[in-house]
Amino acid sequence: MPAVNLHELLGQPRASEFLRGVVASDRYANAYLFHGAPGVGKGTAALAFARAILCHSTARAEAAAPGLFDAAPDAGLAAAGRPADDACGACEACAKAADLQHPDLRFLFPVSGEERQLETTVAETLAAWRGNPFFTFTYEKASSIRLSLTRELLRELAYKPFEAGRRVVVVRDADRMREDQYSAMLKSIEEPGDVTVWVLTTARLGRIPATIRSRCQGVRFSPLPEDTVIGFLEAEVGVPNREARMLAALSAGSLARALNLRDEMLEPAARGDAAALWKAATSMTRFGKAGRETLRQMVEFQQLWLRDLLRARYGAAREELVNRDREADIRRQAEHLSAEEIRRRLMVLEEMVRSIDGNITPELAFFSGMSRVAGARFGERDWPKHTTARWAY
Ligand SMILES: [Zn+2]
Repeated sequence: MPAVNLHELLGQPRASEFLRGVVASDRYANAYLFHGAPGVGKGTAALAFARAILCHSTARAEAAAPGLFDAAPDAGLAAAGRPADDACGACEACAKAADLQHPDLRFLFPVSGEERQLETTVAETLAAWRGNPFFTFTYEKASSIRLSLTRELLRELAYKPFEAGRRVVVVRDADRMREDQYSAMLKSIEEPGDVTVWVLTTARLGRIPATIRSRCQGVRFSPLPEDTVIGFLEAEVGVPNREARMLAALSAGSLARALNLRDEMLEPAARGDAAALWKAATSMTRFGKAGRETLRQMVEFQQLWLRDLLRARYGAAREELVNRDREADIRRQAEHLSAEEIRRRLMVLEEMVRSIDGNITPELAFFSGMSRVAGARFGERDWPKHTTARWAY
């Protein structure tokens, strides 16, 4: 996994500067609470901070070890070519931490499922996170940070760190805990002179008990500027500018949301998969008053795609396609749809946009529209076939 360092944190200059100052001073609070909207880089920052702490505290432990007594710890740090305020990215501690395999870097995060499968669930999540630089945690409603895992971790804290001078515990979405877990955690956080640094993240600050909040050093993460999201999508993910702009506009400053939208909206469109689009549409309605606008954007996404299909049917060159990075998909789909059918679907989408702007609930408009667009393919067995006669222009 390409690790992001503190000085590279995307669109969070204040948090980055603050955390680097902490690392440079080598004076840590017992606990930090990273708060801000979902998907703005709190988790990435927590890992970067953890890596910097482990990198430095390992170097200090080594510098202070017998045999090196003639070298002052600071000289030892400088000799390793280590930046004073960030991880070096080159030492063994950095490599292990970047791989989420450092024995002194521990995690707690919400999981769902049966108790006896927790170990597998946790291992699978860590493996997915390790292998994917754009990994975003998604949870079921009932997911929580499990008591058994919290207890196990707290027992471990009684022992010294394995390799580094300090230990870092990253608690993702710390708002998903029970009261008794907070109390147990609080004891550890309040331990004076403890070698453990807690890093809690939350997108729901109001759900963190005041007792915990008051004992943590708060670090605020802002929504990302739209240009930052666009730049990242273009440069790192390879999204064409036009899509990147649309996704960024919908993302409300959350990179994770922009990436999820890309997967949810574009992938089903590329596959011609209306059922997946419908699923995405229902999930969009959770976003309150923005839902209507989001639905309209999803329809526009689909329209762009269909117009590309139409252009492809008429033999347009690659440069004439909006989604030219998907040329192969477009040509393949275009082979299977007549121009008449593509036009019919475009008309339905046009109708949908009008319904969304009108009084009909957007969900209903979207649903009836999608089912007509997809014709027989949408939930063939589960839903009655819509009459398409009206739409056969
Ligand atoms: Zn290092």
